[in-house]
Amino acid sequence: MTELIDLEDLYENAPCGYFSFLPDGTLIKANTTFHRWVGTNNDSINSYNFIDFLYKGNSIYFEMIFLPMLKMQGYLNEISFDIIKVDGSTFPGLINAVAVRDDQENLKAINVTLINITDRKKYENELLQAKKTADAEKLKFELLSNQVPDIIWTALDSGEVNFLNKQYYRATQKEQIKDKKVYFADLIFQKDLQIFRDNWQEAKELNNAFEIQVRLNNDSSEDPDWYLLKGIPFVRDNFSENTDRSWIGTFTNINQQIKSLQVKDEFLSIASHELKTPITVISSYLEILQGVLKDETHLEIISKCINNIDSMNVLITNLLDITQINQEHFPIEKKKENLTSILKSCVENQREAHKNKQVELIIEIDPANVMADRVRMEQVINNLLTNAIKYSPQSDKIIVKIERSDLETVKVSVQGFGIGISKEDLPKIFDRYYRVRSQTTDFIKGWGLGLFIIQQIIKSHSSIIQVTSEPNKGSCFYFTMDTVND
Ligand code: ADP
Repeated sequence: MTELIDLEDLYENAPCGYFSFLPDGTLIKANTTFHRWVGTNNDSINSYNFIDFLYKGNSIYFEMIFLPMLKMQGYLNEISFDIIKVDGSTFPGLINAVAVRDDQENLKAINVTLINITDRKKYENELLQAKKTADAEKLKFELLSNQVPDIIWTALDSGEVNFLNKQYYRATQKEQIKDKKVYFADLIFQKDLQIFRDNWQEAKELNNAFEIQVRLNNDSSEDPDWYLLKGIPFVRDNFSENTDRSWIGTFTNINQQIKSLQVKDEFLSIASHELKTPITVISSYLEILQGVLKDETHLEIISKCINNIDSMNVLITNLLDITQINQEHFPIEKKKENLTSILKSCVENQREAHKNKQVELIIEIDPANVMADRVRMEQVINNLLTNAIKYSPQSDKIIVKIERSDLETVKVSVQGFGIGISKEDLPKIFDRYYRVRSQTTDFIKGWGLGLFIIQQIIKSHSSIIQVTSEPNKGSCFYFTMDTVND
């Protein structure tokens, strides 16, 4: 195969310039590539000196450093020179040189390769330019983020927080972490870490925005402030793996709102405790009256009173539940229960109460034994069913389903075909007192407490309640539970 290569041609037209010169710099030989790049030719080669192709500064360097070093070590690699062509223009070159010596080890000549690095320089310049632009953008972002009242952060998928604006340090007095690697776990108050981790994990899995309330560690306070933590994934164009993803978000101080909510809760807790007994008494007297009265009009009045007392009772029970949740004392007593039978009895009751609705029950597993608090699970199913009915004024069909989710879990879903929930409202409907405001929902009675409570109940059963919904098509609320053996 070697006969295919013409050595002469290889020397002359190599993709780099070859040239040789005497120790005084006089050129003695060069290949065609060198001549083409520099503008010289073979006939007048001896009339050129290597320093003719160098700027003054470089020629001093050549004489003071280049030659002595070459003599000493016999070679020099990757020395960068701007080469001045015969026509006066220049190009950036990279030189490798080896010394040719005679028998007495005297320097006879220098053989050199010259690489034209014009393209490489161009790319380097482009890269430098891109870096400058990125640095300028970063500075702009930092300046801007320091002007806003919220704490702004950016983070990596690993949970490492790689930027915090000035507001963070002002709010928490944590100057000492400024130049250290910090993670969310270092910023968030110990008691709120679990809720953060659950939401962060879910947001990462679904590549979704998240929003939670947490306290931030604060060096100057034992009772740290509450913040609304919001984050959104920030994905680069060629996003392929999760590691390519960053996050950007804010911490907004909501301590004032939380504190006034606590005052409101305390008041409601005392009020509902005080109301519970008289209402139970009124309720029993009304039932006695219902039994003894004969007059149709009187009975109608009593029945209206009972209905109203019932809804007051529901409200008071909800408020008491909220108080218990807030005090982190929400009693749950789990026993082995058949979830399917709980569904059956709830559906039966709702069919009784809402004769104009068709509540369909699809059972794909029976028994579905789970560890659960029966009363609380009934509360969950009843609430989901009442909501599905309440928020479907134009549709009469509700589908309740229990099915196998995998070998050891069952999935329960309650689906209505009503007004649905918009994408913006979906993350908020589980918040306390949150109600969707619209012309369709404003006439539907409610307190915005039900979903908050059932979310806690499901959480106490080591699961989460989820929802899919589309405006004007309906909503499907669902959760899964681990089954236990018989
Ligand atoms: P309430 O129904 O008493 O207002 P919830 O906590 O049960 O309180 O629900 C919170 C909000 O979520 C409701 O006000 C309603 O806007 C929305 N919502 C709940 N369930 C449904 C549903 N099945 N369809 C449409 N919207 C719903």
